[in-house]
Amino acid sequence: MRMQKKSWRIAATLAAAALVVTACGDDNGDAEGDGDGEGSATEAPEFEEGSTMAAIQESGTLRVGTKADQPLFGIEGPGGWEGFDVEIAKLIAEGIWGEGGADNIEFQEAVSAVREEILQQDQVDLVVATYTINDARKELVGFAGPYYLAGQDIMVAEGNPEGIGGIDDLNGQTVCSVEGSTSIENLREMAPDAEVIALDTYSACAEELSQGNVTAVTTDNVILMGLIHERGEFELVDNAFTDEPYGIGVQLEAEDFRDWVNDRLEEIYDSGEWAEAWESTAGVVAGTPEPPAVDRY
Ligand code: GLU
Repeated sequence: MRMQKKSWRIAATLAAAALVVTACGDDNGDAEGDGDGEGSATEAPEFEEGSTMAAIQESGTLRVGTKADQPLFGIEGPGGWEGFDVEIAKLIAEGIWGEGGADNIEFQEAVSAVREEILQQDQVDLVVATYTINDARKELVGFAGPYYLAGQDIMVAEGNPEGIGGIDDLNGQTVCSVEGSTSIENLREMAPDAEVIALDTYSACAEELSQGNVTAVTTDNVILMGLIHERGEFELVDNAFTDEPYGIGVQLEAEDFRDWVNDRLEEIYDSGEWAEAWESTAGVVAGTPEPPAVDRY
């Protein structure tokens, strides 16, 4: 857990009073998403002393793990970090510091296999990285969300030369997926006779497919759609066979932060900023879905 720095600017009683004033003073309509072009978080809120949010706000930095090679979701390009997950992280940062808060994010690459570890070792505050919520992971980290519902699918070379129609057809084929992902677990379980090539990233798998070293790549449909959009030499089988609810990973003990991120998600659902984030990123390949209800387990 992040340690609170001991710099008490005002007495606790004053802080409590300020909280009331902030709550009452929010009458400018921005939080209601009134379409005036401003975000739902224009000013920095006053967080309770000792909370994870207060500690992050005071530190001046939100440390976020995301993917660096997944077009439309999380990618580090010449123009900086981009994608739907990156936009979600920015909206969370604006909830902490108000307008301009996104500048306080320090992004770092989080490949699938390290997501639990970097939260447990306090290297990041958040993981926003096409990260499926499941019971095994909930033992190790906390999840806010879901903020998107994906499904596992299959990508093949353009023209689908082997005629792959679904997961069963992967038996007897050489298939690439990523270590530490639900995708590789599902592949091993659901197509036990596939020859599995386990790499670190989906872009590395795409390279194998491009070289003709594997017949297929399997992971979440939206990840595959991003790769197809970028490279154009593959196609989606389009026969999803799992549910992959994407969550925002937080440190297991930071329950206050998990609650607050859930509140913030609901705020950006209502303000229309979640939909805008989708439209400016993954919206290139898929229509804007309804935001899923958050699960405060
Ligand atoms: N959503 C799946 C997971 O969290 C697959 C995608 C990924 O590895 O990022 O494991």
